[in-house]
Amino acid sequence: MSTRPMTPEDLRWIVCPVCHHPLEPGPDSVLCTGCGRRYPFIDGIPVLLADRAL
Ligand SMILES: [Zn+2]
Repeated sequence: MSTRPMTPEDLRWIVCPVCHHPLEPGPDSVLCTGCGRRYPFIDGIPVLLADRAL
């Protein structure tokens, strides 16, 4: 399994499930540019669930 870091290109089709703004990848989570929620990576996959947001 690849564990390469995510890039903005990986996230171009993903938006925040809460406010539908674009997401920015971080070292261990993705940050919503709209509402500021952070979604953790679980096994290298961002978990974009509102009730899992940090
Ligand atoms: Zn948001």
